[in-house]
Amino acid sequence: MDILNKCLTSNQFRDYVKGYNFGSLPANKLVIHHTWKPTKESWAGEKSILGLKRYYEKKGWKVGPHLFVAEDGIWLFTPMRKDGIHAAKLNHRSIGIEIVGDYNTAKWSGKTKTNAFGVIKILLEGLNLTENDIYFHRDVSIKSCPGWAITKEWLFYELSEFRLKPRIPGRSDLEDAIRNTTAPAPVDYHASEEMVLIPVPDWAREAVDFVARHKLFKIRSAEDVRDAVKFYRFYQLIRNL
Ligand SMILES: [Zn+2]
Repeated sequence: MDILNKCLTSNQFRDYVKGYNFGSLPANKLVIHHTWKPTKESWAGEKSILGLKRYYEKKGWKVGPHLFVAEDGIWLFTPMRKDGIHAAKLNHRSIGIEIVGDYNTAKWSGKTKTNAFGVIKILLEGLNLTENDIYFHRDVSIKSCPGWAITKEWLFYELSEFRLKPRIPGRSDLEDAIRNTTAPAPVDYHASEEMVLIPVPDWAREAVDFVARHKLFKIRSAEDVRDAVKFYRFYQLIRNL
């Protein structure tokens, strides 16, 4: 089974859908599920995604649901231009959206809720659909999925109240980039060492302080000072976009 295995924020998902090719027969409905297990508490990001992949592969499936919506973001699983396997009769031309957690007694909450409504809103817009095109797995199954606590009345009401955070260009890109950065510390950085090893002229003080405070790189030469100033100006430019 080929999966995308990528975690996006709502903003990134909006851009992704905007540029996405849904194919010649794009999905014309959304089907909402819950994972039941993993629960919200036991969800472990990529580890859980790979566990689900193995689980579906054991069933002999080549595709699965399209999206997993969790506290940590929106996970891309089966490509949305392909029919997935998640809801029997409704598999053809639908997007299968799994909300991570057990919602038989509690409703969506926290970031899971924000991400879920974000995904639904973005896909309705992107595919030109209405709330009449939203299905629950239990509409075609004896299962409780997406959980008895989730009703269409509640979902439609919350959806009508829900607003995606307005996009501030530049700023949110930067925030997204920072949030998703898991790069290790620079190789030449050691916590015990001084970041600034040469005298710094006044005009570069602010930039050098910034670089040192964020442990970006060590200032050891005039060239490093110039790099710090360039970096700091660029940072301010992005911030003020
Ligand atoms: Zn389901």
